[in-house]
Order: sequence, then C-alpha cells, then structure tokens
Amino acid sequence: MCVAGCMEAVRAGMSRRGFFGRAGAAAAGFAAVAVAPVPAAAAPRSFERVIDLTHTLTPEFPSFFGIPGIELEPRAEFAKDGYNMYVWKLIEHSGTHLDTPIHFAETGASVEAILADTLVVPFAVVDVADKAENDADYLLSRDDLVAWEGKHGRLPQGCCVAMHAGWGKLALSDPARFIGRDVDGTLHFPGFAPDAATWLLKERAVVGLAVDTLSLDHGPSTDFKTHKVWLPSGRWGLENVANLDQAPPVGATLVVGLPKVKDATGAPVRLFALA
Ligand SMILES: [Zn+2]
Repeated sequence: MCVAGCMEAVRAGMSRRGFFGRAGAAAAGFAAVAVAPVPAAAAPRSFERVIDLTHTLTPEFPSFFGIPGIELEPRAEFAKDGYNMYVWKLIEHSGTHLDTPIHFAETGASVEAILADTLVVPFAVVDVADKAENDADYLLSRDDLVAWEGKHGRLPQGCCVAMHAGWGKLALSDPARFIGRDVDGTLHFPGFAPDAATWLLKERAVVGLAVDTLSLDHGPSTDFKTHKVWLPSGRWGLENVANLDQAPPVGATLVVGLPKVKDATGAPVRLFALA
C-alpha cells in the first residue's frame, strides 16, 4: 500500500539525486509525510575559500551527557614502540557531529547508508544571533525562514539549512553558557522549532538541518520533537557546527566528511563550506 506522497518518492528514487525517494522511502514513517520535489542535480561549482565549520574535538568539549565525548588511550609510543597510536573511546554524538535517521527511529539509515550525494549540498545559513543573544531558549521559527527567503530567494533544492545562533564561539570560550545548565539542571540554548522543521519537510526540498548548539531541539526541550519530526523522515542533522559567522547566507556548498561506520547512529564529522 502506498499512501499520499509515496509514489512520488518512488519515482524520485529513480533520478540521480533522488535522495528523497531512495533514503526516504526506506525510512519508517516516511510515506505518511507529503514529500517535496526532488532536487535537480547541482551544477559543478567553483569556489574561492574553504571555511572550516568544525570544532576541534577534545575530552573537554561540552557534551550533552556531561562526560567526555572522546578519550584517547595511548596504545603505542614513539620512544618505546617506534610509532605513535591511540585507541579512542568515543560517544558517537560528540563535538561537531551528524545525527542519522536511526538516531530517533526504530528503523532508518545509519551512517554508512547516508548517500554520498546528500553530503555535498547547497548551504543556507539563517542568522538569528541577534534574537538569540537575549533569549537563550530561542526557537528558529517558520517566520525566520520566510524572512530569509524574502532576502535571499527560495531555499535551494536539496540544501542544508543552518541556524546561526551565535553559539559556536561559546563552545570553547564559555562552555557553561554554551550548555546553559541552570540550577534545576535544565539546559538553555537555541534550536529549530518543530513547526519550522515540519514546514521545511513538507514545503521545501531540504536534506539536512545544522545548528551551532548542542542539539537540533532547543535546550529546555524534553520531548526532542524537532529530532522526532526530522530524523525519521530519512534526513540528517548536524550539531555543534563552528564558524557559521564566516559562511555566506547563500551560495556556499557544504561538504560533510562522514566516517563510514556500519550501524553507527551518528559520528563526528569534518565540515567545510566552499564559498
Ligand atoms: Zn547528535
């Protein structure tokens, strides 16, 4: 049985950049969502600069769980063994990292199944830093997206939409504010409003969301509704993105360097914006 949107997704799966069909049709629950048209193949682009959107991952990097995201244990040392090597102990969702569909769904793509042509995409950056400066719980809204399109035109087909909340610079300079944990243990940082994510899902062809904070959902969220709307649809998310103040609002290409680890629900990434 194929409910509304399903056949479009199946047909789209036959096209070269048919992400919304191939990844989406396999994801649980996807068929219940009306799908946006499949993006046209992106033309080859030239670029003048490479912006590194990645934080350096250290044991001290702020984590959602309050424990080190990575630990390096020496396995070989040059003076003794003639070469250097560490063994990593790693939480998948540490530092600048990608969330896969399976992170918030019973079935769905894990990192090795994320299609390569959804990891090199047009990049749109929505700047809400002024609003978030006085409201740590700021939710990027559908109005913010409409206002962005009023200035920069319709969101590009197959793009990643990033929230620039001005939080990236706090990760190392002021980790307590980056996390925003209050006396009751509630976290405070900006995120995408669930209805903004739903609108992007239904009305635009977007492969990924990105935030310069710890989570796609804002800090106080306990139901992780934006994660639940977005990831099970077969799309990915990027968290703890750095240097969004250096990326143009539109026109750059995002390159997501994603390790290909079977069954992983997420992974640290190296992110570049080619501008
Ligand atoms: Zn994550």
